[in-house]
Amino acid sequence: MREDTRRWIEADKAHCWHPFTPQAAWEAGEPLVLVRGEGAWLWDSEGRKYLDGNSSIWTNIHGHNHPALNEALTRQLTEVAHVSYLGFANPRASELAARLSGLFPPGTLERVFFSDDGSTAIECAMKMAIQYRQLTGEPERTGFIAFDQAYHGDTLGAASLGGVSRFHDRFRKHGATVTFVSGMEALRELPWEAVKGCAAVVIEPLMQGVNEMRPWPAGMLRELREWCDAHDVHLMLDEVMTGFGRTGKMFACLHEEVTPDYLCVAKGITGGYLPMAATLTTGHVYEAFLGEDDRAFYYGHSYTANPLGCALALASLDIFEAEKTLENLQPKIARMAELLAGLKAESRFVHEIRQCGFVAGIELRQADGTRFPVQLQTGSKVCLAAREHGLLTRPVRDTIVLMPPLSISTAELVHAVDAISAAINAVS
Ligand code: PLP
Repeated sequence: MREDTRRWIEADKAHCWHPFTPQAAWEAGEPLVLVRGEGAWLWDSEGRKYLDGNSSIWTNIHGHNHPALNEALTRQLTEVAHVSYLGFANPRASELAARLSGLFPPGTLERVFFSDDGSTAIECAMKMAIQYRQLTGEPERTGFIAFDQAYHGDTLGAASLGGVSRFHDRFRKHGATVTFVSGMEALRELPWEAVKGCAAVVIEPLMQGVNEMRPWPAGMLRELREWCDAHDVHLMLDEVMTGFGRTGKMFACLHEEVTPDYLCVAKGITGGYLPMAATLTTGHVYEAFLGEDDRAFYYGHSYTANPLGCALALASLDIFEAEKTLENLQPKIARMAELLAGLKAESRFVHEIRQCGFVAGIELRQADGTRFPVQLQTGSKVCLAAREHGLLTRPVRDTIVLMPPLSISTAELVHAVDAISAAINAVS
């Protein structure tokens, strides 16, 4: 092991604390130290290279070390790295808000509130929905409706919308009042008593990510919009994972031509370079916050609308146009489907492939169709084995996530699926 690697690992084990990580096992292991990226590839501190199979936790869009993103960042650095958005405007934030709003049908999501990551975009939407009701004479409507197994982030408010027991149960009572439903049928069956106190319903459109990449039935989003309109409940879409091309269109809601009352984006907004998020809403919601009395929206953070993040987000949108990212993605989506169908055909442990655009979950089960016991950690073992074949990814339970940068080449995609195949063979 190189001297630098040893030093970094020692400092990590002595002082760092990693998210969602059993630290005892971590300290007993030997973590990879990632030091460099180029396109869809990452290098560790020992000089080994790997495909970034989960886009650095679902954030990367155009690849690492992209010249246009680097250029936008350095150009902005020569102007200013950060200025307060409290009491001041800044050029990149103004330009970005107009660009983001312009990605939706005119007259729909006209207002943009910036924040820092997926969780804060959700917190922002929750507080907006609650304060909107206060301002429009229904202050008792503070509740939310969410879906079983949902994941909307990990701050207390966002966590209370989450339906994954392991992550959320221990914190649930410290957050919002939330009614959980399994799908449209259960939602329709809710008595008015349960609905009347709700400000909004929140959903990950098209597919639940942390719930092992599980797609919703086609047409559900439209039905949900209709239900919301009929019950005067706002629709909040969490496009933190699905936004910025991941499902094959710029946003998942565009597949069903649905516009929500609140739309939350983060992760891919800066192409995967810096933390940044936005909550978009309608002119109608915004107007409730106008007036002489105290109608300020009580939400904000020190780094809101950071110019570096905004400059990157603008450059990322430029790349979508210059590199025809979405056009070029369509054949790659089809190729991913072919490759994964091949993987399923060749392995009796691949139970189901769940693909939505350019993200797929490969669910592994025992040959008799039952789940592997949790303590076997089959998904984690397969992902560890995939490293040996030059692929980095993480599972959700025993579902291997394949979510590479949209810019990956088809040859690299073949490499990724070959690595998963070899890893499944190595573990089974
Ligand atoms: N919403 C969804 C659908 C997510 O997948 C995530 C993160 O994985 C979040 C919200 C939270 O985003 P962040 O981790 O940036 O706070």
